[in-house]
Amino acid sequence: MTATQTPAQSTFESLDPRTGEVVGTHPDHTAADVGAAVARAADAAQWWADQGFDGRHRLLGEWRRALVRGLDDLAGVVAAETGKPLDDARLELVLAVDHLDWAAKHAAKVLGTRSVPSGLLMANQAATLTYAPLGVVGVIGPWNYPVFTPMGSIAYALAAGNAVIFKPSELTPGVGVALADSFAEIVAGRPVFQVVTGHAETGVALCRAGVAKIAFTGSTATGKRVMATCAETLTPVLIECGGKDPLIVDVDADLDAAADAAVWGGMSNAGQTCVGVERVYVVDTVADAFTAKVVAKARALEPGREFGPMTMESQAAVVQGQIDDALAKGARALVGGAGSADRRLVEPVVLTDVPEDSTAVTEETFGPLLVVNRVPDVDEAVRRANATGYGLGATVFSKARGTEIAARLRCGMVSVNSVISFAGIPALPFGGVGDSGFGRIHGEDGLREFTRPQAVARQRFALPIAITSFTRPAAVMKVLVGLMRVLHGR
Ligand code: NAD
Repeated sequence: MTATQTPAQSTFESLDPRTGEVVGTHPDHTAADVGAAVARAADAAQWWADQGFDGRHRLLGEWRRALVRGLDDLAGVVAAETGKPLDDARLELVLAVDHLDWAAKHAAKVLGTRSVPSGLLMANQAATLTYAPLGVVGVIGPWNYPVFTPMGSIAYALAAGNAVIFKPSELTPGVGVALADSFAEIVAGRPVFQVVTGHAETGVALCRAGVAKIAFTGSTATGKRVMATCAETLTPVLIECGGKDPLIVDVDADLDAAADAAVWGGMSNAGQTCVGVERVYVVDTVADAFTAKVVAKARALEPGREFGPMTMESQAAVVQGQIDDALAKGARALVGGAGSADRRLVEPVVLTDVPEDSTAVTEETFGPLLVVNRVPDVDEAVRRANATGYGLGATVFSKARGTEIAARLRCGMVSVNSVISFAGIPALPFGGVGDSGFGRIHGEDGLREFTRPQAVARQRFALPIAITSFTRPAAVMKVLVGLMRVLHGR
Protein backbone atom coordinates (compact mmCIF):
# COMPACT_ATOMS: atom_id res chain seq x y z
CA MET A 1 0.00 0.00 0.00
CA THR A 2 1.50 3.36 -0.96
CA ALA A 3 0.93 6.48 1.09
CA THR A 4 -2.20 8.32 -0.05
CA GLN A 5 -1.67 10.88 -2.77
CA THR A 6 -2.94 14.40 -2.05
CA PRO A 7 -4.72 16.21 -4.94
CA ALA A 8 -1.92 18.68 -5.77
CA GLN A 9 0.86 16.17 -5.26
CA SER A 10 3.99 16.72 -7.31
CA THR A 11 5.39 13.65 -9.03
CA PHE A 12 8.66 12.43 -10.49
CA GLU A 13 9.58 9.85 -13.10
CA SER A 14 11.87 6.85 -12.91
CA LEU A 15 13.81 6.23 -16.10
CA ASP A 16 15.37 3.19 -17.77
CA PRO A 17 19.15 3.89 -17.80
CA ARG A 18 19.49 1.74 -20.94
CA THR A 19 17.02 3.73 -23.05
CA GLY A 20 16.06 6.86 -21.12
CA GLU A 21 12.41 5.77 -21.37
CA VAL A 22 10.02 6.53 -18.53
CA VAL A 23 9.43 3.40 -16.43
CA GLY A 24 6.98 4.94 -13.97
CA THR A 25 5.65 8.12 -12.36
CA HIS A 26 5.50 8.38 -8.56
CA PRO A 27 4.38 10.89 -5.96
CA ASP A 28 7.01 13.06 -4.31
CA HIS A 29 5.76 12.43 -0.80
CA THR A 30 5.87 15.43 1.53
CA ALA A 31 6.54 15.55 5.27
CA ALA A 32 2.75 15.57 5.80
CA ASP A 33 2.36 12.41 3.67
CA VAL A 34 5.17 10.69 5.56
CA GLY A 35 3.66 11.72 8.91
CA ALA A 36 0.29 10.32 7.83
CA ALA A 37 1.91 7.04 6.80
CA VAL A 38 3.65 6.74 10.19
CA ALA A 39 0.36 7.48 11.99
CA ARG A 40 -1.40 4.76 9.96
CA ALA A 41 1.42 2.34 10.73
CA ALA A 42 1.09 2.66 14.52
CA ASP A 43 -2.10 0.55 14.79
CA ALA A 44 -0.82 -1.86 12.17
CA ALA A 45 2.40 -2.32 14.16
CA GLN A 46 0.42 -3.39 17.20
CA TRP A 47 -1.72 -5.76 15.12
CA TRP A 48 1.39 -7.23 13.51
CA ALA A 49 3.13 -7.66 16.89
CA ASP A 50 -0.02 -9.38 18.20
CA GLN A 51 0.21 -12.02 15.45
CA GLY A 52 3.14 -13.50 17.37
CA PHE A 53 6.05 -15.40 15.85
CA ASP A 54 3.83 -18.19 14.46
CA GLY A 55 1.36 -15.83 12.81
CA ARG A 56 4.10 -13.75 11.25
CA HIS A 57 6.00 -16.84 10.13
CA ARG A 58 2.89 -18.02 8.29
CA LEU A 59 2.14 -14.64 6.66
CA LEU A 60 5.77 -13.99 5.72
CA GLY A 61 5.82 -17.49 4.23
CA GLU A 62 2.82 -16.57 2.06
CA TRP A 63 4.59 -13.37 1.01
CA ARG A 64 7.73 -15.35 0.19
CA ARG A 65 5.76 -17.68 -2.07
CA ALA A 66 4.06 -14.70 -3.76
CA LEU A 67 7.47 -13.09 -4.38
CA VAL A 68 8.73 -16.31 -5.95
CA ARG A 69 5.61 -16.55 -8.17
CA GLY A 70 6.13 -12.94 -9.27
CA LEU A 71 9.91 -13.21 -9.51
CA ASP A 72 10.17 -12.56 -13.24
CA ASP A 73 7.87 -9.53 -13.14
CA LEU A 74 9.70 -7.96 -10.22
CA ALA A 75 13.07 -8.75 -11.83
CA GLY A 76 11.78 -6.91 -14.90
CA VAL A 77 11.10 -3.77 -12.84
CA VAL A 78 14.56 -4.04 -11.21
CA ALA A 79 16.24 -4.40 -14.63
CA ALA A 80 14.23 -1.50 -16.09
CA GLU A 81 15.00 0.93 -13.25
CA THR A 82 18.67 -0.01 -12.70
CA GLY A 83 19.71 -1.10 -16.20
CA LYS A 84 21.22 -4.35 -14.89
CA PRO A 85 20.86 -7.62 -16.84
CA LEU A 86 17.66 -9.54 -16.06
CA ASP A 87 19.57 -12.51 -14.62
CA ASP A 88 21.41 -10.23 -12.18
CA ALA A 89 18.02 -8.91 -11.07
CA ARG A 90 16.82 -12.50 -10.64
CA LEU A 91 19.91 -13.37 -8.55
CA GLU A 92 19.25 -10.46 -6.21
CA LEU A 93 15.64 -11.62 -5.78
CA VAL A 94 16.63 -15.22 -5.11
CA LEU A 95 18.98 -14.08 -2.34
CA ALA A 96 16.39 -11.71 -0.86
CA VAL A 97 13.77 -14.47 -0.74
CA ASP A 98 16.22 -16.77 1.03
CA HIS A 99 16.83 -14.09 3.67
CA LEU A 100 13.09 -13.54 4.14
CA ASP A 101 12.67 -17.27 4.75
CA TRP A 102 15.53 -17.37 7.26
CA ALA A 103 14.34 -14.31 9.18
CA ALA A 104 10.76 -15.61 9.46
CA LYS A 105 11.91 -19.10 10.49
CA HIS A 106 14.45 -18.01 13.10
CA ALA A 107 12.72 -15.04 14.74
CA ALA A 108 11.05 -17.10 17.49
CA LYS A 109 14.25 -18.88 18.50
CA VAL A 110 16.42 -15.75 18.44
CA LEU A 111 13.96 -13.25 19.92
CA GLY A 112 11.50 -15.31 21.97
CA THR A 113 11.39 -15.04 25.75
CA ARG A 114 14.04 -17.15 27.42
CA SER A 115 15.28 -17.75 30.94
CA VAL A 116 18.79 -16.75 31.88
CA PRO A 117 20.71 -17.70 35.06
CA SER A 118 19.99 -15.30 37.91
CA GLY A 119 23.35 -15.74 39.65
CA LEU A 120 24.35 -16.44 43.22
CA LEU A 121 23.40 -13.07 44.70
CA MET A 122 19.94 -13.09 43.13
CA ALA A 123 19.27 -16.83 43.39
CA ASN A 124 15.72 -16.12 44.61
CA GLN A 125 14.89 -14.39 41.30
CA ALA A 126 13.73 -15.84 37.99
CA ALA A 127 15.41 -13.91 35.17
CA THR A 128 13.89 -13.72 31.68
CA LEU A 129 14.91 -11.88 28.53
CA THR A 130 12.62 -10.88 25.67
CA TYR A 131 13.44 -9.07 22.44
CA ALA A 132 10.35 -6.97 21.81
CA PRO A 133 9.59 -5.18 18.52
CA LEU A 134 10.34 -1.45 18.33
CA GLY A 135 7.06 -0.44 16.65
CA VAL A 136 7.35 1.42 13.34
CA VAL A 137 10.72 1.20 11.59
CA GLY A 138 11.79 3.46 8.70
CA VAL A 139 13.97 1.94 5.96
CA ILE A 140 15.83 4.20 3.50
CA GLY A 141 17.34 2.32 0.57
CA PRO A 142 19.79 2.74 -2.33
CA TRP A 143 19.28 1.92 -6.01
CA ASN A 144 22.15 -0.50 -6.71
CA TYR A 145 20.45 -3.61 -5.27
CA PRO A 146 16.97 -2.16 -4.84
CA VAL A 147 15.47 -5.45 -3.54
CA PHE A 148 18.31 -7.34 -1.86
CA THR A 149 19.70 -4.41 0.13
CA PRO A 150 16.53 -2.95 1.70
CA MET A 151 15.10 -6.44 2.25
CA GLY A 152 18.02 -7.02 4.61
CA SER A 153 16.26 -4.52 6.85
CA ILE A 154 12.60 -4.95 5.79
CA ALA A 155 12.45 -8.76 6.13
CA TYR A 156 14.27 -8.81 9.47
CA ALA A 157 12.28 -5.86 10.89
CA LEU A 158 8.97 -7.49 9.86
CA ALA A 159 9.99 -10.89 11.23
CA ALA A 160 10.87 -9.20 14.53
CA GLY A 161 7.30 -7.83 14.71
CA ASN A 162 7.65 -4.25 13.46
CA ALA A 163 5.67 -2.28 10.89
CA VAL A 164 7.89 -0.84 8.14
CA ILE A 165 7.83 2.34 6.09
CA PHE A 166 10.22 2.07 3.17
CA LYS A 167 11.66 5.03 1.25
CA PRO A 168 13.30 3.54 -1.86
CA SER A 169 15.88 5.47 -3.88
CA GLU A 170 14.39 8.04 -6.25
CA LEU A 171 16.03 6.02 -9.05
CA THR A 172 14.15 2.81 -8.15
CA PRO A 173 10.76 3.82 -6.69
CA GLY A 174 8.85 1.29 -8.81
CA VAL A 175 10.73 -1.58 -7.18
CA GLY A 176 9.73 -0.34 -3.72
CA VAL A 177 6.09 0.06 -4.74
CA ALA A 178 6.04 -3.43 -6.30
CA LEU A 179 7.45 -4.94 -3.09
CA ALA A 180 4.88 -3.23 -0.87
CA ASP A 181 2.03 -4.06 -3.27
CA SER A 182 2.92 -7.76 -3.15
CA PHE A 183 2.95 -7.67 0.67
CA ALA A 184 -0.41 -5.85 0.73
CA GLU A 185 -1.97 -8.72 -1.24
CA ILE A 186 -1.06 -11.06 1.62
CA VAL A 187 -1.81 -8.75 4.54
CA ALA A 188 -4.78 -6.87 3.07
CA GLY A 189 -6.16 -3.79 4.81
CA ARG A 190 -3.38 -3.52 7.39
CA PRO A 191 -0.63 -1.00 6.53
CA VAL A 192 2.12 -3.13 8.04
CA PHE A 193 4.51 -2.41 5.15
CA GLN A 194 4.09 0.92 3.35
CA VAL A 195 6.19 2.75 0.80
CA VAL A 196 6.79 6.49 0.57
CA THR A 197 8.44 7.70 -2.64
CA GLY A 198 10.47 10.82 -3.28
CA HIS A 199 13.88 12.40 -3.08
CA ALA A 200 16.16 13.37 -0.19
CA GLU A 201 13.43 15.54 1.40
CA THR A 202 11.17 12.50 1.78
CA GLY A 203 14.03 10.66 3.49
CA VAL A 204 14.61 13.63 5.80
CA ALA A 205 10.88 13.65 6.64
CA LEU A 206 11.01 9.94 7.50
CA CYS A 207 13.96 10.60 9.84
CA ARG A 208 11.91 13.29 11.59
CA ALA A 209 8.59 11.43 11.63
CA GLY A 210 8.94 9.82 15.04
CA VAL A 211 9.69 6.26 13.88
CA ALA A 212 11.35 3.97 16.41
CA LYS A 213 14.47 3.43 14.28
CA ILE A 214 15.89 4.33 10.87
CA ALA A 215 17.72 1.64 8.88
CA PHE A 216 19.70 3.52 6.24
CA THR A 217 21.67 2.08 3.34
CA GLY A 218 23.46 4.43 0.97
CA SER A 219 26.56 6.56 0.66
CA THR A 220 28.71 7.58 3.62
CA ALA A 221 28.03 11.28 3.01
CA THR A 222 24.26 10.73 3.18
CA GLY A 223 24.66 8.39 6.15
CA LYS A 224 26.20 11.27 8.12
CA ARG A 225 23.29 13.54 7.17
CA VAL A 226 20.76 10.87 8.16
CA MET A 227 22.48 10.43 11.52
CA ALA A 228 22.50 14.21 12.12
CA THR A 229 18.77 14.47 11.34
CA CYS A 230 17.94 11.48 13.53
CA ALA A 231 19.97 13.03 16.36
CA GLU A 232 17.38 15.85 16.57
CA THR A 233 14.83 13.37 17.94
CA LEU A 234 17.24 10.79 19.35
CA THR A 235 15.95 8.32 16.77
CA PRO A 236 18.32 5.33 16.69
CA VAL A 237 19.99 4.51 13.39
CA LEU A 238 21.50 1.56 11.60
CA ILE A 239 23.96 2.82 8.99
CA GLU A 240 25.06 0.66 6.02
CA CYS A 241 27.35 2.73 3.81
CA GLY A 242 29.91 2.34 1.09
CA GLY A 243 33.13 0.36 0.92
CA LYS A 244 36.51 0.04 -0.78
CA ASP A 245 36.79 -3.70 -0.46
CA PRO A 246 40.17 -5.38 -0.98
CA LEU A 247 40.96 -8.82 -2.40
CA ILE A 248 44.23 -10.42 -1.25
CA VAL A 249 45.98 -13.04 -3.38
CA ASP A 250 48.47 -15.18 -1.42
CA VAL A 251 51.37 -17.17 -2.93
CA ASP A 252 49.48 -20.48 -2.82
CA ALA A 253 46.17 -19.15 -4.15
CA ASP A 254 44.20 -20.86 -6.92
CA LEU A 255 44.99 -18.11 -9.43
CA ASP A 256 42.21 -18.97 -11.90
CA ALA A 257 39.62 -18.83 -9.16
CA ALA A 258 41.13 -15.65 -7.70
CA ALA A 259 41.16 -13.91 -11.08
CA ASP A 260 37.59 -14.97 -11.75
CA ALA A 261 36.53 -13.64 -8.34
CA ALA A 262 38.37 -10.35 -8.87
CA VAL A 263 36.75 -9.71 -12.22
CA TRP A 264 33.23 -10.76 -11.20
CA GLY A 265 33.52 -9.10 -7.79
CA GLY A 266 34.80 -5.90 -9.39
CA MET A 267 32.73 -5.66 -12.53
CA SER A 268 29.39 -7.41 -12.08
CA ASN A 269 26.56 -4.91 -11.74
CA ALA A 270 28.99 -2.52 -13.53
CA GLY A 271 30.98 -2.35 -10.28
CA GLN A 272 28.04 -0.73 -8.48
CA THR A 273 28.22 -3.06 -5.49
CA CYS A 274 28.89 -1.86 -1.94
CA VAL A 275 30.85 -5.07 -1.26
CA GLY A 276 32.35 -5.17 -4.77
CA VAL A 277 36.08 -5.78 -5.19
CA GLU A 278 37.79 -2.44 -5.83
CA ARG A 279 41.43 -3.09 -4.83
CA VAL A 280 43.50 -6.23 -5.40
CA TYR A 281 46.76 -6.84 -3.53
CA VAL A 282 48.65 -9.75 -5.05
CA VAL A 283 51.89 -11.16 -3.65
CA ASP A 284 54.82 -10.47 -5.97
CA THR A 285 55.78 -14.06 -6.85
CA VAL A 286 52.36 -14.82 -8.37
CA ALA A 287 51.50 -11.29 -9.54
CA ASP A 288 52.43 -11.72 -13.23
CA ALA A 289 50.49 -14.96 -13.66
CA PHE A 290 47.48 -13.64 -11.73
CA THR A 291 47.38 -10.29 -13.51
CA ALA A 292 47.55 -11.96 -16.95
CA LYS A 293 44.47 -14.01 -16.04
CA VAL A 294 42.60 -10.91 -14.80
CA VAL A 295 43.44 -9.05 -17.99
CA ALA A 296 42.23 -11.91 -20.20
CA LYS A 297 38.95 -12.23 -18.30
CA ALA A 298 38.28 -8.47 -18.19
CA ARG A 299 39.03 -8.10 -21.93
CA ALA A 300 36.51 -10.84 -22.70
CA LEU A 301 33.67 -8.94 -21.02
CA GLU A 302 31.11 -7.25 -23.20
CA PRO A 303 29.59 -4.13 -21.61
CA GLY A 304 25.84 -4.18 -22.20
CA ARG A 305 25.74 -7.99 -21.99
CA GLU A 306 27.48 -8.97 -18.71
CA PHE A 307 26.68 -5.65 -17.09
CA GLY A 308 24.60 -2.61 -17.87
CA PRO A 309 25.18 1.15 -17.95
CA MET A 310 25.80 3.28 -14.89
CA THR A 311 22.43 3.50 -13.16
CA MET A 312 23.23 7.06 -12.09
CA GLU A 313 24.40 8.96 -15.17
CA SER A 314 26.79 11.24 -13.22
CA GLN A 315 28.75 8.23 -11.92
CA ALA A 316 30.64 7.72 -15.21
CA ALA A 317 32.44 11.06 -14.66
CA VAL A 318 33.46 9.94 -11.15
CA VAL A 319 34.96 6.75 -12.58
CA GLN A 320 36.74 8.68 -15.35
CA GLY A 321 38.10 11.12 -12.78
CA GLN A 322 39.64 8.27 -10.80
CA ILE A 323 41.17 6.72 -13.93
CA ASP A 324 42.68 10.08 -14.97
CA ASP A 325 44.01 10.76 -11.47
CA ALA A 326 45.65 7.31 -11.27
CA LEU A 327 47.23 7.59 -14.75
CA ALA A 328 48.50 11.09 -13.97
CA LYS A 329 50.17 9.74 -10.82
CA GLY A 330 51.96 6.96 -12.75
CA ALA A 331 49.53 4.01 -12.86
CA ARG A 332 49.50 1.77 -15.94
CA ALA A 333 46.30 0.80 -17.74
CA LEU A 334 46.19 -2.92 -18.61
CA VAL A 335 42.59 -2.96 -19.84
CA GLY A 336 40.77 0.18 -21.00
CA GLY A 337 42.00 3.47 -19.59
CA ALA A 338 41.66 7.11 -20.62
CA GLY A 339 38.24 7.49 -22.26
CA SER A 340 36.78 4.19 -20.99
CA ALA A 341 34.26 6.02 -18.83
CA ASP A 342 33.39 8.91 -21.14
CA ARG A 343 29.97 7.30 -21.68
CA ARG A 344 27.26 5.80 -19.50
CA LEU A 345 28.09 2.22 -20.55
CA VAL A 346 31.58 2.18 -19.02
CA GLU A 347 34.19 -0.28 -20.39
CA PRO A 348 36.04 -2.64 -18.05
CA VAL A 349 39.21 -1.00 -16.73
CA VAL A 350 42.16 -2.70 -15.04
CA LEU A 351 44.91 -0.49 -13.64
CA THR A 352 48.16 -1.59 -12.05
CA ASP A 353 51.02 0.10 -10.14
CA VAL A 354 48.41 2.53 -8.85
CA PRO A 355 49.85 4.87 -6.19
CA GLU A 356 48.07 4.30 -2.89
CA ASP A 357 47.19 7.99 -2.64
CA SER A 358 45.23 7.91 -5.94
CA THR A 359 41.49 8.39 -5.63
CA ALA A 360 41.09 4.98 -7.35
CA VAL A 361 42.58 3.51 -4.14
CA THR A 362 41.25 5.90 -1.52
CA GLU A 363 37.66 6.55 -2.66
CA GLU A 364 34.72 4.31 -3.53
CA THR A 365 34.65 3.90 -7.33
CA PHE A 366 31.25 2.31 -8.03
CA GLY A 367 32.24 1.45 -11.60
CA PRO A 368 33.86 -1.48 -13.47
CA LEU A 369 37.38 -0.44 -12.48
CA LEU A 370 39.83 -2.80 -10.80
CA VAL A 371 43.09 -1.70 -9.19
CA VAL A 372 45.65 -4.54 -9.15
CA ASN A 373 48.75 -3.71 -7.10
CA ARG A 374 51.61 -6.07 -6.31
CA VAL A 375 52.97 -6.34 -2.76
CA PRO A 376 56.10 -8.06 -1.39
CA ASP A 377 54.18 -10.28 1.04
CA VAL A 378 50.86 -10.90 2.77
CA ASP A 379 51.79 -8.63 5.69
CA GLU A 380 51.99 -5.69 3.32
CA ALA A 381 48.75 -6.77 1.63
CA VAL A 382 47.00 -6.73 5.01
CA ARG A 383 48.52 -3.38 5.91
CA ARG A 384 47.32 -1.76 2.69
CA ALA A 385 43.95 -3.49 2.83
CA ASN A 386 43.37 -1.94 6.25
CA ALA A 387 44.74 1.49 5.30
CA THR A 388 41.34 3.00 4.51
CA GLY A 389 38.57 4.65 6.47
CA TYR A 390 36.12 2.13 5.03
CA GLY A 391 35.73 -1.36 6.46
CA LEU A 392 32.86 -3.23 4.82
CA GLY A 393 33.87 -6.55 3.22
CA ALA A 394 37.01 -8.29 1.94
CA THR A 395 38.15 -11.35 0.01
CA VAL A 396 41.15 -13.59 0.60
CA PHE A 397 42.52 -16.22 -1.75
CA SER A 398 44.93 -18.51 0.09
CA LYS A 399 45.03 -22.28 0.45
CA ALA A 400 46.97 -22.55 3.71
CA ARG A 401 46.13 -19.46 5.75
CA GLY A 402 42.88 -17.93 4.49
CA THR A 403 41.14 -17.70 7.86
CA GLU A 404 44.33 -16.44 9.53
CA ILE A 405 44.57 -13.57 7.03
CA ALA A 406 40.81 -12.92 7.34
CA ALA A 407 41.18 -12.44 11.10
CA ARG A 408 43.69 -9.64 10.53
CA LEU A 409 41.37 -7.57 8.33
CA ARG A 410 39.52 -4.58 9.82
CA CYS A 411 36.11 -5.06 8.28
CA GLY A 412 32.71 -6.63 8.90
CA MET A 413 32.77 -9.59 6.49
CA VAL A 414 35.34 -11.72 4.66
CA SER A 415 34.99 -14.39 1.97
CA VAL A 416 37.86 -16.89 1.79
CA ASN A 417 38.50 -18.55 -1.59
CA SER A 418 35.24 -17.20 -3.04
CA VAL A 419 33.78 -13.73 -3.41
CA ILE A 420 30.84 -11.94 -1.68
CA SER A 421 29.59 -15.33 -0.39
CA PHE A 422 28.89 -13.91 3.08
CA ALA A 423 25.99 -11.87 1.66
CA GLY A 424 24.19 -15.04 0.58
CA ILE A 425 24.45 -16.79 3.95
CA PRO A 426 21.42 -15.57 5.94
CA ALA A 427 22.87 -16.63 9.31
CA LEU A 428 25.87 -14.29 8.86
CA PRO A 429 25.50 -10.66 9.99
CA PHE A 430 26.16 -8.03 7.31
CA GLY A 431 27.64 -4.60 7.96
CA GLY A 432 30.81 -2.62 8.38
CA VAL A 433 33.00 -0.44 10.55
CA GLY A 434 34.37 3.09 10.19
CA ASP A 435 33.11 4.96 7.13
CA SER A 436 31.16 1.85 6.11
CA GLY A 437 28.77 2.38 9.02
CA PHE A 438 27.61 0.37 12.01
CA GLY A 439 24.89 -1.99 13.10
CA ARG A 440 24.05 -5.23 11.34
CA ILE A 441 21.41 -6.59 8.99
CA HIS A 442 21.03 -10.37 8.40
CA GLY A 443 21.45 -13.20 10.88
CA GLU A 444 20.65 -13.18 14.58
CA ASP A 445 22.23 -9.72 15.00
CA GLY A 446 20.06 -8.46 12.14
CA LEU A 447 16.90 -9.65 13.90
CA ARG A 448 17.95 -8.16 17.26
CA GLU A 449 18.76 -4.86 15.52
CA PHE A 450 15.02 -4.23 15.19
CA THR A 451 14.09 -5.01 18.79
CA ARG A 452 14.55 -3.70 22.29
CA PRO A 453 15.84 -6.22 24.80
CA GLN A 454 13.56 -6.28 27.82
CA ALA A 455 14.98 -7.75 31.01
CA VAL A 456 12.60 -9.02 33.70
CA ALA A 457 13.62 -10.21 37.17
CA ARG A 458 10.70 -11.92 38.97
CA GLN A 459 11.15 -12.70 42.65
CA ARG A 460 10.32 -16.35 43.28
CA PHE A 461 10.59 -16.19 47.06
CA ALA A 462 11.60 -13.54 49.57
CA LEU A 463 15.00 -13.91 51.24
CA PRO A 464 15.05 -13.80 55.07
CA ILE A 465 17.21 -10.69 54.76
CA ALA A 466 16.56 -8.31 51.86
CA ILE A 467 19.72 -6.86 50.32
CA THR A 468 17.87 -4.07 48.51
CA SER A 469 16.14 -2.61 51.53
CA PHE A 470 16.86 0.02 54.18
CA THR A 471 16.06 -2.75 56.71
CA ARG A 472 19.27 -4.58 55.75
CA PRO A 473 21.39 -5.26 58.88
CA ALA A 474 24.97 -3.94 58.71
CA ALA A 475 26.40 -7.46 59.23
CA VAL A 476 24.94 -8.59 55.88
CA MET A 477 27.37 -6.42 53.93
CA LYS A 478 30.28 -8.00 55.81
CA VAL A 479 29.07 -11.47 54.83
CA LEU A 480 28.60 -10.38 51.22
CA VAL A 481 32.05 -8.80 50.93
CA GLY A 482 33.58 -11.90 52.53
CA LEU A 483 31.78 -14.09 50.01
CA MET A 484 33.04 -11.93 47.12
CA ARG A 485 36.60 -12.18 48.43
CA VAL A 486 36.36 -15.97 48.36
CA LEU A 487 34.63 -16.13 44.97
CA HIS A 488 36.23 -13.34 42.94
CA GLY A 489 39.14 -11.95 44.92
CA ARG A 490 41.71 -14.68 44.37
P1 NAD B 1 22.55 7.84 -1.49
O1 NAD B 1 23.25 8.07 -0.21
O2 NAD B 1 22.63 8.88 -2.55
O3 NAD B 1 20.97 7.63 -1.23
C1 NAD B 1 20.49 6.59 -0.41
C2 NAD B 1 19.06 6.93 0.01
O4 NAD B 1 19.07 8.04 0.90
C3 NAD B 1 18.13 7.32 -1.13
O5 NAD B 1 16.87 6.74 -0.90
C4 NAD B 1 18.05 8.83 -1.00
O6 NAD B 1 16.86 9.40 -1.52
C5 NAD B 1 18.10 9.00 0.50
N1 NAD B 1 18.57 10.30 0.95
C6 NAD B 1 19.38 11.18 0.31
N2 NAD B 1 19.64 12.25 1.09
C7 NAD B 1 18.99 12.03 2.26
C8 NAD B 1 18.89 12.77 3.49
N3 NAD B 1 19.53 13.92 3.64
N4 NAD B 1 18.16 12.24 4.49
C9 NAD B 1 17.52 11.04 4.34
N5 NAD B 1 17.58 10.30 3.20
C10 NAD B 1 18.31 10.80 2.18
O7 NAD B 1 23.08 6.43 -1.99
P2 NAD B 1 22.80 5.71 -3.37
O8 NAD B 1 23.54 6.45 -4.44
O9 NAD B 1 21.35 5.47 -3.54
O10 NAD B 1 23.49 4.28 -3.13
C11 NAD B 1 24.83 4.03 -3.39
C12 NAD B 1 25.62 3.97 -2.11
O11 NAD B 1 25.04 3.00 -1.24
C13 NAD B 1 27.05 3.52 -2.31
O12 NAD B 1 27.92 4.29 -1.52
C14 NAD B 1 27.04 2.07 -1.81
O13 NAD B 1 28.29 1.61 -1.39
C15 NAD B 1 26.05 2.15 -0.71
N6 NAD B 1 25.49 0.83 -0.40
C16 NAD B 1 25.81 0.24 0.79
C17 NAD B 1 25.32 -1.01 1.10
C18 NAD B 1 25.64 -1.68 2.40
O14 NAD B 1 24.94 -2.60 2.76
N7 NAD B 1 26.64 -1.26 3.15
C19 NAD B 1 24.49 -1.68 0.18
C20 NAD B 1 24.19 -1.07 -1.01
C21 NAD B 1 24.69 0.21 -1.29
